[in-house]
Amino acid sequence: MAAKRRFQTVKGMRDLLLDEARRFAMVEQIARDAFRLYGFEELRTPLVEDTDLFVRGVGEGSEIVGKQMYTFDDKKGRSLTLRPEGTAPVARAYLQHDMASWPQPVKVFYMGPYFRYERPQAGRYRQFHQIGAEVIGDPGPYSDAELLAMLLRFLSKLLFDDLEVGLNSVGDPECRQRYCQRLREYLEPRRGELGADSQRRLETNPLRILDTKVPEERKLLEGAPRLRDSLGRAAREHFAVVCEQLERLGIAYRVDDRLVRGLDYYTRTVFEISSARLGAQNAILGGGRYDGLIGELGGPAVPGIGFAIGQDRLVELLSGGLTLVVPPVCVIPVGSHCREDALQLAEELRDAEVMAVAELASPRALKAALRKADRGGYDWIVLVGEDERAAGTAVLKSLYSGLQEAIPREGFAAAVKARMEPHE
Ligand code: AMP
Repeated sequence: MAAKRRFQTVKGMRDLLLDEARRFAMVEQIARDAFRLYGFEELRTPLVEDTDLFVRGVGEGSEIVGKQMYTFDDKKGRSLTLRPEGTAPVARAYLQHDMASWPQPVKVFYMGPYFRYERPQAGRYRQFHQIGAEVIGDPGPYSDAELLAMLLRFLSKLLFDDLEVGLNSVGDPECRQRYCQRLREYLEPRRGELGADSQRRLETNPLRILDTKVPEERKLLEGAPRLRDSLGRAAREHFAVVCEQLERLGIAYRVDDRLVRGLDYYTRTVFEISSARLGAQNAILGGGRYDGLIGELGGPAVPGIGFAIGQDRLVELLSGGLTLVVPPVCVIPVGSHCREDALQLAEELRDAEVMAVAELASPRALKAALRKADRGGYDWIVLVGEDERAAGTAVLKSLYSGLQEAIPREGFAAAVKARMEPHE
């Protein structure tokens, strides 16, 4: 008979185990607390959206829409897509629930899995996780600074001290058009020095050439005109106020002329935060203003700004090894008829908020049970056998001192808790 196939996670996707799952949950909790401090509400959108939402919202020229979407037809032939990013769904929800009629700006945060068909590598997955926030209905620039302050407050709670904040302005669409023209004029005569990707982008989206990773192209760009010099007055003033407010708030940043971000919808303020400890894929988060997005999706001209943190990379920065958390107490039935006592006792301990496990799989002889408990890393074990049952007691044994005592079943959990306290 052929061996049964063993299944694995799909390429680019992974299980989160033990400490990693715990760190994910911890980061989420800290994010919720930090964002609520600023008056943000959580918004949970579906994993699947109408494909056109991303085509229109993220932009046809973007890598995401061009190459990376998990798109499929449902049984009625509707084209659906696993969400590759969080801002377009939030903008969709803003319009769908008429949030323009709520007090403005609407401030929301979100977290969960996102999907992009990218080449998997360290720090890059096909199912990854983002924690994001959006402020919709405030043109800035003060709210831009406040959003960055919130981000850094959150990150400081995770005790990061080696983060670099990169800041730039991509201006309004007119400034960008003007700039793209200048950039083309600079690059066209040097076309031969560009790789195939950048040559293609020269036609489709020259701005994206600025964030190339190819060293020769980076060198070539050193002499290129700067996007900032093409900004119109309003965009320039906006950027100046953002910088000034960040300085007043004591937030260190670096103006990065090459920072343009990959998505088409950004306007004016854009930013990225990276850590040198992450290697090639070093951006932990990215964000920016998207004053045209809601209008692009058929809504009124409402401005917005937001960010998305790569939770996988954030957690990687926190990582140590993988360990099992061992509850302090293990309840062991001795002999064959005491499993129900063990089940009962463990429940009573949990009623008293004592973290406990019970050995319910098979009743053991005392010696074997003790040997197993010793190896398990517990602080305490509770033994219930026929004798204890008859006497209405259970035995509590400290694996530190080896001391043990019989405790009455009546009030057992409270008595255990009282004895545990000195250890904590
Ligand atoms: P973006 O939505 O492309 O602006 O990405 C925001 C952040 O999400 C990035 O800075 C990364 O930290 C993270 N991210 C984006 N794509 C992936 C991916 N495929 N795998 C892991 N993290 C990702």
